[in-house]
Amino acid sequence: MADKYETLKQYFGYDTFRAGQEELIDGVLTGKDVLGVMPTGAGKSLCFQLPALMMDGITLVVSPLISLMKDQVNSLNQSGIRSAYFNSSLTPAQYRLALERARQGAYKIIYAAPERLLTGEFLDFAQNADISFVSVDETHCVSQWGQDFRPSYLKIPEFIAALPKRPVVGAFTATATAQVRDDVVRLLGLRDPVVVTTGFDRGNLYFEVDKPRDKFSALLRFWHENEGKSGIVYCSTRKAVEEICDGLIQEGCPATRYHAGLSDAERRKNQDDFIFDRAPVMVATNAFGMGIDKSNVKFVVHYNMPKNIESYYQEAGRAGRDGEPARCILFYSGRDVRTNMFFIENSRGNEELDEKTRALVAQRDRERLKAMTFYCFTNDCLRAYILRYFGESSPDYCGNCGNCVRGAVETDITKDAQKILSCVKRAGERFGAKAITSVLQGKKDDKRVLQYGLSSLSTFGIMEDTPENVIYDEIRFLEREGYLNVAHGEYPVLSVAKKACDVLFKGKPLTMKMLKEKGPAAHRKTKAEIAPVNPHLFEKLKTIRNKIANAQGVPAYIIFSDATLRDMCARLPRSRAELLEVSGIGVKKAERYGERFLAALAEPDAGTQKPADAKANPEKIKRAPFSITGEQKSKVELFEEAVPVSYLSNRINEQIDTAQMRRLSATKITNWLFDNGFLEEIINKENKKSRVPSSKGAEQLSIVTEERERDDGEKYIVNLYGKLAQRFILDNLDKIVKSRQ
Ligand code: ADP
Ligand code: MG
Repeated sequence: MADKYETLKQYFGYDTFRAGQEELIDGVLTGKDVLGVMPTGAGKSLCFQLPALMMDGITLVVSPLISLMKDQVNSLNQSGIRSAYFNSSLTPAQYRLALERARQGAYKIIYAAPERLLTGEFLDFAQNADISFVSVDETHCVSQWGQDFRPSYLKIPEFIAALPKRPVVGAFTATATAQVRDDVVRLLGLRDPVVVTTGFDRGNLYFEVDKPRDKFSALLRFWHENEGKSGIVYCSTRKAVEEICDGLIQEGCPATRYHAGLSDAERRKNQDDFIFDRAPVMVATNAFGMGIDKSNVKFVVHYNMPKNIESYYQEAGRAGRDGEPARCILFYSGRDVRTNMFFIENSRGNEELDEKTRALVAQRDRERLKAMTFYCFTNDCLRAYILRYFGESSPDYCGNCGNCVRGAVETDITKDAQKILSCVKRAGERFGAKAITSVLQGKKDDKRVLQYGLSSLSTFGIMEDTPENVIYDEIRFLEREGYLNVAHGEYPVLSVAKKACDVLFKGKPLTMKMLKEKGPAAHRKTKAEIAPVNPHLFEKLKTIRNKIANAQGVPAYIIFSDATLRDMCARLPRSRAELLEVSGIGVKKAERYGERFLAALAEPDAGTQKPADAKANPEKIKRAPFSITGEQKSKVELFEEAVPVSYLSNRINEQIDTAQMRRLSATKITNWLFDNGFLEEIINKENKKSRVPSSKGAEQLSIVTEERERDDGEKYIVNLYGKLAQRFILDNLDKIVKSRQ
């Protein structure tokens, strides 16, 4: 029998195991049950895929999501490992055929949805096959305490018991809490398992919290800095997803959307567009992501603060699975806290729980939200904050998060603290941070100041020279350190804690870390921006990889990850043998694709010559200008209802290959309509320009306007285009394309 290192090299192309992998694999190979708790991207799949290859019989992997199964099976087959999946995405005929082949021993690894296990046909197959290992992926789904409870996971032990011989059972998850871990062992009936929990640090991820005044502009700026890269933007509501996705598309960003309100078909399509990099930016609610193994995600932006650190780390962790530098940015606003609080207080779904348990759950959720909020206000190392939250020790400085990069200075805030504490006290301990800040700043026109006559307080205006965000940070600090208490009723209300007496009356000094103003330091290059060894060659290899992936209809990272291409750039292999040295290239992949890459590497300009434009952003793909053929045009399906113009430009873009060509932006269309008198510009009350249908546009094309409201209450105008207008735009597409930039 081949040993595990040979198998690792031959099939997966790696020389060494990552933390935790070997222990778990050894456990399985000696016939023991195992439980692996490792962060996203740590390499859990290998812990069951590798033993599967070395054991007799079949390995059955229970997995909760279709997309996840598809991805992994694709990837295994690429590496020459015979595998298949059984889930509801197969037609009955496909399903029977696959089962038949499985019976004949065609597969070494079989993925199945938990719902399948106890169905007649599948069970019959399983009882007559030699299943030596059952591996339960995303195993936290078995626990009600996990975030993704799936009742069908509870049926797994019944299935195992129905097998003629008890297989080895493995369980894998990224959820770290003790409660979930205990549930998994108990509910799956693991027998004296080898439990491995690895460190939760993801060194390649850069963390940052921003508090932009205008989140959308900040997002746009961020996207422009990261154009060409793949990323996810998480929003808290479906409505926000729609708006932000539309907004990005209007600006020419190749974005798509995902939330529970879309049809299955659209969700599937959008997810595929994202995975295949046709739409490399995904705007989504937290319904998106579990089971997305896309390894080349370079950023995760949270447009809204999530409800707890567990969710945040899981979602942010979808960046940089390939181990390459990636950015995780959170946009904070006070509104996010209130939205989350509202969800907690009004959470349904817990109806089976009794009153007392429900209260406990809500209490626990509030605690978690508080920890999440503090993350947004800490001036310490963000990575350290997260790791400590998960019970891990960590150095105070990581050098790869917003706070470490900006640097903080220890500042004496005793005087400010006294002012804040006494203001809270004098205002009668009836208000939240916002009202208190307004009082301290002396804001006469604040709603609550007016309503409750707070301008007569002696603390009114005593911090008028201190910026609002500083006061706010200080209040959060006092909360975190236990000098202020917060009661969460309809609104959060601050009161002064006993501990504060020392500060108020005995002058106990208080210091707080304050971030230096965002200056040049903030734009220092972080680890996330280090260029590849040879950008020109890297691009060239990427092109070859993408061509292969396109031809086979699989995502690019299934062929080779960016990390593998980067290693190729560094090693410049000249032969098959040298190619096998590259991390991530096993025997099968070298056989299949080796020649093409070796040929590219052997070309005279490969390793040495400088790129034509040395300053070109390596990640930026140069695309040809937009163009469309008559045939493609005829395939564009118009909307029955009146829609924003971006809907139409999206449909048009679907017909062209946006990997090769620039997209048609909605702005281009509206510019043309404006130039041709169908739209006109008006100035609204806030002195902002908007474009609305002119009388020509309204009469000839029936364009209408609608006023909508953003989450933050701000109103904006959208123009809606009915079928007539859509057809007109399509008919004039050639003129539009040729019009001004
Ligand atoms: P998880 O399921 O823990 O989130 P995956 O199993 O999807 O993570 O693995 C993440 C990435 O790590 C994959 O691209 C995988 O090929 C890579 N990987 C796994 N094990 C190793 C290893 N020993 N050396 C290098 N890369 C590895
Ligand atoms: Mg996984």
